[in-house]
Amino acid sequence: MLSTTILSSLSGLYSALYEWYAANKRVLPWRETQDPYCIWLSEIILQQTRVAQGLEYYMRFMDRFPTVQDLAAASEDEVLVYWQGLGYYSRARNLHKAAQMIGQKAKGERRKAVFPTTFEQLRQLPGVGDYTAGAIASFAYNLPYPAMDGNVYRVVARLSDTDEAFDTTQGKKHFHQLIEQLLDRENPRLFNSAIMEFGALYCTPTSPDCETCPLQHYCLAYAHHTVELLPVRKPRPKVRDRWFHYRIYIDHNGLTLIHQRQAKDIWQHLWEFVLEEYPDGDEAIALQTFPIRHILSHQRLHARMDVIKVTSLPSIPDTVAVDMRHLGDYAMPQMLVKVLEQLSF
Ligand code: SF4
Repeated sequence: MLSTTILSSLSGLYSALYEWYAANKRVLPWRETQDPYCIWLSEIILQQTRVAQGLEYYMRFMDRFPTVQDLAAASEDEVLVYWQGLGYYSRARNLHKAAQMIGQKAKGERRKAVFPTTFEQLRQLPGVGDYTAGAIASFAYNLPYPAMDGNVYRVVARLSDTDEAFDTTQGKKHFHQLIEQLLDRENPRLFNSAIMEFGALYCTPTSPDCETCPLQHYCLAYAHHTVELLPVRKPRPKVRDRWFHYRIYIDHNGLTLIHQRQAKDIWQHLWEFVLEEYPDGDEAIALQTFPIRHILSHQRLHARMDVIKVTSLPSIPDTVAVDMRHLGDYAMPQMLVKVLEQLSF
């Protein structure tokens, strides 16, 4: 529960938070607009991505796809190429699918594409969960919905001294009740922006400066000396090792073979060279033979690349022959892009 100190003086907490925000907020393009398309794009890019890196991608996307119609009209392959390097490619596929849904609806009704305007409509877009719908609803339309990202969970866990894991179904429900009590319904846009920024810049995961914190008076974790213990997460799943052996065939015309990953697995719809995946074997030997390491959220990839010069390319099902110089037109996993930069052919 939120402390009675907070509940009895929410206006004092809002004033302290907004004063801090006015003095410390970063100037970011998606904060300077109320256009739902720009806000949606920035929110999808910023999931699992640092702001500095996200900013670069956001600018590139806005440059190439300035409206939701432009994004809907692009091919999925092109969107994936623009997304290359950000990882979690399902975000890009959903982004594209959602743009097409919005575009198609407008086409059917013979009008200009209009972005959904209610939380419920936003929630129906592929890749849009409660957090993103809340962020768009509040930032674009100033509707009273919370936007709970990792930074907000941390601030709320500490203000309320809640030691329940925030990433379980039950924990999410509990935190949702807390933020509903805390939300400034008169100024949801300002409240969500301020609390997110406060978590990102001030109430940081380690060693926040609690002694001079403007919210210290309201913070139960500070009073109970539990700041460093919060928030609590559920135990992480075990990391799985995988062993990838790539063969980069190159013929005398500079052509190579690639194929598009189709399975519901990592890198779905991205392109890669001819791959054989090895089952787990003797780890010590495998580690020597597969010298490239690439860490994903729950997988550790060990890869080996062999460049094989041939007079004519072998016939391998589901592959296409492409000019090595045009590989940049195909969205590839970041691990392969990095290796290609280092290899000389
Ligand atoms: S007192 Fe410390 S833990 Fe509490 S809100 Fe401020 S920075 Fe965060």
